[in-house]
Amino acid sequence: GITLMGAVMAWLVAVDPQGHEPLHEAANWVFVAASMAMIHVLSGRLGRMRARLSAQKAELTEALERIQLLATRDTLTGLLNRRAVQEELQRAVAHAQRHGRPLVVALADLDHFKQINDSFGHQVGDRVLQAFARAAERELRSADRVARWGGEEFLFMLPDTDEAQARICLDRLRVSYLHVPVAGVPRGHRLSFSAGVALCASAHDIDAAIERADRALYSAKQSGRGRTHGLPSAPAAAV
Ligand code: GH3
Ligand code: MG
Ligand code: MG
Repeated sequence: GITLMGAVMAWLVAVDPQGHEPLHEAANWVFVAASMAMIHVLSGRLGRMRARLSAQKAELTEALERIQLLATRDTLTGLLNRRAVQEELQRAVAHAQRHGRPLVVALADLDHFKQINDSFGHQVGDRVLQAFARAAERELRSADRVARWGGEEFLFMLPDTDEAQARICLDRLRVSYLHVPVAGVPRGHRLSFSAGVALCASAHDIDAAIERADRALYSAKQSGRGRTHGLPSAPAAAV
């Protein structure tokens, strides 16, 4: 471009020396050439800066995703953690209430889990927790959630589900968990869990519903484990 411009100027000077003072044309050419060189350098720098910025943006996005993952997931099982499922519950209960749909919370606690650790080792215990998590995820529908609530306790959130359907869901899981293969657990060993279910009526009822599920779970343990309980319906208030 700049060479072509120089050639055109030289030609103009040659054909019309009156209208085009050679010194003037030369000065013009030097000015334009210098400006273009500067623009070239600046745009190169700008391009490199833009590339660096977009790389940094990608790194930040990745870091943010990692932080999000660490903040919402249990590291052993990859399930939602306690805090994350509580947030999901708030959202889901509000939605269920708006649409007049039932929502169930359930607590499951693995039976005699201490014995698994004691007999087969803590690592095998960890693998059992992971196996339970995978089995639970397989049972759930897309709006359902399962979270690691504590050591070997899990919380289920089941929207659009009543108590009877929730029990059916947990009983299906009971069957698939019974003989789930885990390295280090002898074949034929029967894995089981107990569970308690409770309907959650409103956003204000979340904590109370979890407490009812916990009491139902305790009752399932008391009655011999490996089963799901709801709470017996509250006795009619004395008049
Ligand atoms: P129950 O049927 O009454 O629930 O008996 P349990 O043995 O399951 O209950 P207990 O509360 O006595 O024992 C729970 C055990 O779970 C104790 C604890 O060491 C173990 N545990 C908790 N978190 C983990 C974990 O992340 N990995 C492993 N391997 N064990 C864990
Ligand atoms: Mg427990
Ligand atoms: Mg237990």
